[in-house]
Amino acid sequence: MVTDHLQASGELLNQRLAEKGLRATSQRQHVYEVLLSQRNHPSAEEVFMRAKQSKPEISMATVYNSLDALVKCGVVRQVNVDRGATLFCSNMGEHAHFCCDDCGKVFDMNLKDLPQMPQVDLPGGFEVRKIDIALHGSCTCSDCGRKEAVA
Ligand SMILES: [Zn+2]
Ligand SMILES: [Zn+2]
Repeated sequence: MVTDHLQASGELLNQRLAEKGLRATSQRQHVYEVLLSQRNHPSAEEVFMRAKQSKPEISMATVYNSLDALVKCGVVRQVNVDRGATLFCSNMGEHAHFCCDDCGKVFDMNLKDLPQMPQVDLPGGFEVRKIDIALHGSCTCSDCGRKEAVA
């Protein structure tokens, strides 16, 4: 089942890469699988550590290059939190990111409806392409030591 899933994602990836004129390499595929196998918004460094476990010869430069290609072809998105490194999210569904200010973890939150355009003074000629919502607060993970669940 896991293999089927990865095979399907591999085909999708190859197709997306081809659409952008990017080469489908086994490294890019591997980095994508690493991102899909644990969807907890790792940094490039963390992706590298995980990628090395099953592909010890992979280099940091290759991981950066692969992440770049995955972002460019739209199967992975970058998440920037105020402090700290750029994180990578392989969930391409509509969702908002909840950033815990205490432990730095980032969680996917399903949107119950599409984000509304905030009332802003947009200079003429400026065009909004997307709205990114980042929620900040504290979470209930074991590091943060809070037991009560968010209602
Ligand atoms: Zn996400
Ligand atoms: Zn936390």
